[in-house]
This record gives sequence, structure tokens and C-alpha cells, in this order.
Amino acid sequence: MVKLAEWRGKEIFRSYGIPVPRGAVVRSPEDARKAAESGSVPLPCVVKAQVLAGGRGKGGAVRFADSPAAAAEAAQAILALEFKGEKVREVLLEEKLAIAKELYVSISLDRSRRVPLLMASAQGGVEIETVDDSALLRVEIDPFAGLLAYEKRRVAAALGVSGPVRASLDRLLDQLWIVFQKEDAELVEINPLAIVGDGVIALDAKVIIEDDAAFRHPEFNEVRDDRTPLEEIAREQEIAFVQLDGDIGVIANGAGLTMATLDVLTQYGGRPGVFLDLGGTDDPKKVTQAFLLMAKARPSAVFLNIFGGVTRCDTVALGLVDALKEVPEAERFPLVARIRGNNEARGIEILRAAGVGARTDLKECAQSVVAAAAGRRVAPGARA
Ligand code: GDP
Ligand code: MN
Repeated sequence: MVKLAEWRGKEIFRSYGIPVPRGAVVRSPEDARKAAESGSVPLPCVVKAQVLAGGRGKGGAVRFADSPAAAAEAAQAILALEFKGEKVREVLLEEKLAIAKELYVSISLDRSRRVPLLMASAQGGVEIETVDDSALLRVEIDPFAGLLAYEKRRVAAALGVSGPVRASLDRLLDQLWIVFQKEDAELVEINPLAIVGDGVIALDAKVIIEDDAAFRHPEFNEVRDDRTPLEEIAREQEIAFVQLDGDIGVIANGAGLTMATLDVLTQYGGRPGVFLDLGGTDDPKKVTQAFLLMAKARPSAVFLNIFGGVTRCDTVALGLVDALKEVPEAERFPLVARIRGNNEARGIEILRAAGVGARTDLKECAQSVVAAAAGRRVAPGARA
């Protein structure tokens, strides 16, 4: 998945004729001041963190400025942020527009229906997951026929636009459909799509390029901004490590077991955060690195779900106990281990002797880790 930063998405939009605000990307407060002074960014302006996580508006990562000095100040404050675990390295400065209304449109790939899906809502500017289903129009696009006139009429009606705004929306939808196809996107999202004057303009851009088509887009080779800093380290150490939005860490062996563990946690009300697949690893150095990496992600609790097959449970348990000792005291996390398979009784004994609550029952373990994480969240200073 190649997830592009907002400014890259907007650059693509612009190249296809989709209206976007005038702006500039900078990496320092000084450059922000210069951009505002030179007029390359008209004032007043919006200053936005270029991070991949959403919710910047609510999270203080979007600010406004009405002078070059204020633009520099806003850029400085935003560049100092670590937004949802991601260090801000770039900010986008853009002219601040007078928004009459914020709308939502996107085209994504509906994998279960196997068609591109256009979604539109008159309730833009908020996270689309929070929008009531009845306020969200879904139009399945026939990939061979393309986006048809009557479908655009339905979108315009759902968004409540007419006249010149509608004409502008029609053009934008046509262009967005072309971007989706030509750029091999799995998602193109504009939220908010703003009505400004008598036209529409993309105030935000989320573009995700299909992994399988990445080879057709060498221009994005250097774009690693879909990886978090920890994921970047993991990649270098050849550890399968992915960061999600939740707070519970998952360590399992094998992709299937790892995925199933995420599902089980979710089923019992937990929110999986980081997950890590030990695969067939029993190289103690690798396991230690994996634990240290997990600790850096600061999970509320960690669920260790191991199946001992070729590598026996006791061997795995010994490796885990050694690795755990390497995690600095201050970075330790509550740990629930579920271990099954070859020599499981011995494995459990070893883990328990090392102070790790180990069991074989999946449900019990999942519930206990969810409870541990919840306890942690209530009292963040407390140690489990
Ligand atoms: P997100 O919260 O991370 O999705 O960031 P957005 O790019 O969607 O920006 C959040 C909010 O900032 C938008 O919903 C707008 O209300 C506001 N915003 C962004 N650009 C402009 C602008 O040019 N003018 C005005 N008035 N508000 C803006
Ligand atoms: Mn947005």
C-alpha cells in the first residue's frame, strides 16, 4: 500500500485538472515565512501537518495564519508535533478559502463487490466512519462503462448542488474517476470537498496506490511515507511489524495465527495496535529485537499467541524469556501469553517461572489482555 501525503495527492489532482488551493510545502518555519512573504502562498493561509494519519483538524495539526510571522509560528508549532506517533517533517501552507459547505466524495475499490465504488455525502469535513449510513450515497461504477451521466446526477442530488456548482462537481467527478484509473489507486478521497464561490475545490486529498501496481509508478519509489518510523526500523531488521490504531500489541508466529489473533482481540472488545509476526523465527537475537521494537510502540498490554510446531513450545518459551530480560525495566508492558502445541506444558511452566501469565485457552487469554489494557488506560501511570 503506497499511501501518499496530502500534498502529493493534491499534486496529482492538480495535474489532472482537479481544483486545489494554491500552496507550498515547507520543512522549516523560516521557509514558511518566506512562502507567505513572497506571495506564493496568499494570506490568510492554512498550515497543515503532512502526516498520514487523519483527524488533523481536531488534533491541532491544522492551523490558520494571517501574516508571514504567524505562518512561521504555526509551522514551528506543527513541526514540533508528534502526531499519532508520527513525527511531522513537512507542512503544507495554503490559501485559506471561504468555505460555504464541506462535502465528501471518494472512489475506492470494493473488493467484495469487485467494482470501483463512488461514495458521496453532504456531511463532509468529519470522519466518514461517523457519518450515518443514510447520509452516504454509494454508486457502483461499471469499470467498462465508466462514470455515467445519470450517476453524476444522483451524486449532485445527494450533495444538494445545482447550477454552476453542479457543473463544477460534474467535471471534478469525471477527473477523479480518471485519476483513480490512471494512477492505479485503491482509494482517492476528498474530505472536505468544499463549495467555494460557485465551484467545488479539494481541500484535502487522500490517495492510496495499489501495491500490485507499484512497479508502474517508479515516481513513488522514494515515497516511504506509508511506513511509521518504527515500521521503517522493523523493515531494516526484517521483522514483520505493522502499526494500527489500537493500543494492544500482538505477537504471534505465522501470518494466519497473527491475523486470527487480531480478530479474536477485536471480538472481545480490544483494539489491536501493533502486531508482529515472529514467523518461524527462533533466532534469539531476532526475538529480542522484536520485543524491543514492541516496547518502543508503548502498547497498553501485549498478547503473545504462539503455536509450537516444528519449533517446540519449550524452546520458544526459553527464547521469549531471554528476550524479555533485554527489555529495559521502564519499557516493560503487561504480557499475556497463550502457548499451544508441541511440549506446551513445559513451555507454560517456563513462562510462568519467569513471571509471565501463560495459558492455553484462547478466549481466557484474550479477555485477560483486554482487561489488562483497559486497566492501563484508566491509570496510565500504573504498572501492571
Ligand atoms: P484532516 O482533519 O486530517 O482530514 O484534515 P483536513 O485537510 O480535512 O482539514 C481539517 C479541516 O480544516 C477541514 O475540514 C476544514 O474545516 C479546515 N480547513 C482546511 N483547509 C481550509 C481552508 O482553506 N479554509 C478554511 N476555512 N478551512 C480549512
Ligand atoms: Mn480531511
